Parts: sequence; C-alpha cells; structure tokens
Amino acid sequence: MSDTTPGAEATNGSRLRCNECKSEAIVTTAGGSSLACCGVALEVIFVGG
Ligand SMILES: [Zn+2]
Repeated sequence: MSDTTPGAEATNGSRLRCNECKSEAIVTTAGGSSLACCGVALEVIFVGG
C-alpha cells in the first residue's frame, strides 16, 4: 500500500513519540493503524522488527 499515514508503519517493538507532550510509547501489538496523542499522530522514531 502507498498509505504513508504517520504511525501506520509501526510494527511490534517500534518506538513512537508525541511531539506535543514528548511522551514516548512502545508498540507491543501492531494493528496497522495510526496511533495518536494530543490530537496528532505519533512519530515513529524507531521501527522495530
Ligand atoms: Zn501527546
């Protein structure tokens, strides 16, 4: 797919960060959907395997 929605590429073990509140999260169960915090999509800062 060519969908480049931020966060949608997150796989298990990926680290996500909210640029609004600087919170970080680690994906334990990837669902293929974009995750959001503070009303904005989380940025993937590390793509897990
Ligand atoms: Zn946030």
